[in-house]
Amino acid sequence: VMTQVVVAVDGSRAAEQAVTWAANEAVLRGAALRLVHASLWERYEAGTEHDANDSSVRARDAARQMLTDQADAARAAHPGLHVTTETLAQETVPALLEAGREAALLVMGIRGLGAMKGLMLGSISQRVAAHALFPVVIVP
Ligand code: ATP
Ligand code: MG
Ligand code: MG
Repeated sequence: VMTQVVVAVDGSRAAEQAVTWAANEAVLRGAALRLVHASLWERYEAGTEHDANDSSVRARDAARQMLTDQADAARAAHPGLHVTTETLAQETVPALLEAGREAALLVMGIRGLGAMKGLMLGSISQRVAAHALFPVVIVP
C-alpha cells in the first residue's frame, strides 16, 4: 500500500493552506494525497425519504464540490501526484482520528469555517491533536 498523507478540509482558507502544505509534503515523500471531509449531510441521499431539493441535499452536494475543487487544485499544482477524496459520514473528530490512523501523517488547518476573531486554534484541531496516536501537522 502506498504511503498516504491525509489532509482534513472544511472549505476554509486555513484548510486550503493545509492542502497546499500537504500536497508538497506528499510529493517530497513520494506519497499519495488523501483529502477527507467529515459531514453528516453525507447521510442524505436523493430519492430516499429526503427530497432532492432539500437543503440538506444541497449542503451535501456543496461539500462534495468543495472537496473535488480542492483535489483538482492539488492535481493542477502537482501533475503526477495521486490525489483521492473521501467524505466521511461521521462526527468530525472521530472521523479524522480514524482517517489519520491509516496514514503517515494527518495535516489540518489551524482554524476553520467557524473561526472567531482572536481564536488561536480551532476546537477540531485541538481535540484531534490531543487524542491522536500518529503525527499531526497543524498549518498556520
Ligand atoms: P470551531 O469549529 O472550533 O468553531 P474553527 O472552525 O475555526 O473553530 P476547526 O473546526 O478546529 O476551527 O478547524 C481547524 C481545521 O480542522 C480545519 O482547517 C480543517 O483542517 C479541520 N476541519 C474542521 N472541520 C472539518 C470537517 N468537517 N472535516 C474535515 N476537516 C475539518
Ligand atoms: Mg470548525
Ligand atoms: Mg467546529
